Amino acid sequence: MTKKKPSTLVMKFGGTSVGTTEAMSQAVANIRASKLDWERVVVVTSALSGVTNLLVESTARAVRGDEVFISQAETELVKKHFELAEDLIESPAQQAQAKQEIKHLCADFANLCRAIRVLGEATPRAMDAVVSLGERLSVRLLAAALQAAGTPSQFIETTHLIVTDDDFQSAHPNLEKTEANIAAIIEPLLAQGQVPVLTGFIGATEEGITTTLGRGGSDYSAAIIGATLPADEVWIWTDVTGVMTADPRIVPSARTIPEVSYREMAELSYFGAKVLHPKAVRPVVEKGIPVRICNTFEPHEKGTYVISDEDGAAQVLQNGNSQIVKGVTAIQHQSVITVEGRGMLGVPGVAARTFGAVAATGTSVPLITQASSEQSISFSVPIESVDAVLDSLHRAFTEELEQRDIDRVWATDEVAIITAVGNGLQQTPGVAGKVFSALGAANLNVYAIAQGSSAVAISLIVATKDAQKAVQTLHHFITS
Ligand code: ADP
Ligand code: ASP
Ligand code: MG
Repeated sequence: MTKKKPSTLVMKFGGTSVGTTEAMSQAVANIRASKLDWERVVVVTSALSGVTNLLVESTARAVRGDEVFISQAETELVKKHFELAEDLIESPAQQAQAKQEIKHLCADFANLCRAIRVLGEATPRAMDAVVSLGERLSVRLLAAALQAAGTPSQFIETTHLIVTDDDFQSAHPNLEKTEANIAAIIEPLLAQGQVPVLTGFIGATEEGITTTLGRGGSDYSAAIIGATLPADEVWIWTDVTGVMTADPRIVPSARTIPEVSYREMAELSYFGAKVLHPKAVRPVVEKGIPVRICNTFEPHEKGTYVISDEDGAAQVLQNGNSQIVKGVTAIQHQSVITVEGRGMLGVPGVAARTFGAVAATGTSVPLITQASSEQSISFSVPIESVDAVLDSLHRAFTEELEQRDIDRVWATDEVAIITAVGNGLQQTPGVAGKVFSALGAANLNVYAIAQGSSAVAISLIVATKDAQKAVQTLHHFITS
């Protein structure tokens, strides 16, 4: 894009895009370059890379009474953020101010952790108060770095913008109320030609209590802001060049996919492509806003555009079967739980009661599959939830287990869900068979398959030890 247009761009920078002096300088350069093409630019930033993990770890250590860890973490947080302040903010007065705020927030962190230590527990609300500090720190640095580079900029904590329910650690936004706040707070800044820099990841309840949108939630923040402004485009800046045919950490030869449809993107991210948070797709789809995923360190590469489902379907017709599957993903650390018994067919509402019992433990179920016989229900859950889920199921079906209508409720060892995603899957018969053959030829054992939960995805369950090889094998299959 070369001509300035009266339009609005939301840009989100992930942790590695702001985690070092070099990265943040590059982010600043990218924002300034985009400001030449776009009249209104709104920035959303994650915490510096590693910071949210450190905050989470600190709360866990605090619960266990580890005072030493709290003090060390505070020192590390101050050091990490001071370094960037010193490197990126030239004006002594502005640098001193940024440092003072950093010190303050880090002291808040230590105080909160000490309170958790005394109580011996961290409620979800307390967790959110602590983990939100990462973005509250980074947003100040990025806004100040932009100012120092000559771009008028103002940081905003989205506790004043994104209104959510009180489902701490995974809060849901109220878009109407958020929209009203955006109009009141962001629009005036944009009218003055400022670049607002917003915290990703966090919001607040109507009463003003800080919430977070779930790990990796800054993408979701960008989508919410993009949809409510509304923006003309949302760009997600990260450390890889867009959405790739597989996680490049597992498959080094993975390639950038130039265009994916909303539906494909939703499946890819839902089934483990961490490059975009699964919840980030919906708000922008509903407004038809294009999303671009691009590389902070290769800003001239186009990356990936997420396009409408209609355009995606048209592409399949145009390209024929050349690209039935676009990408392969993996979700690790799962277990498959099976409820089985010959008498199950006669028991009313088994499925509803099964998933009711799972839901009561607060566990998410990425995949439901029909096992070989119809007298069983199988589904996957994260491995750490297995004990709670089994317990809940045993309680729900005590009677049926006693009467042998249900023979057993059991869990596999750790497994992975491997998913192939592509619009072409729905028009192309026999893909599942080919996928199986490819895995069979590589001597990989498939425990279960789920096709049809979505028209554009096929999921397979394999042992954890086989996960990497399964992704590589399928990747080879789709790209050769
Ligand atoms: P950020 O901090 O920018 O939000 P994330 O770590 O959340 O970045 O997401 C980017 C990472 O997602 C990449 O470094 C890559 O390892 C991983 N990833 C997993 N699957 C894919 C995929 N299909 N395409 C691109 N990246 C992927
Ligand atoms: N900082 C948060 C996390 O690490 C949110 C994000 O980066 O998207 O989960
Ligand atoms: Mg992310």
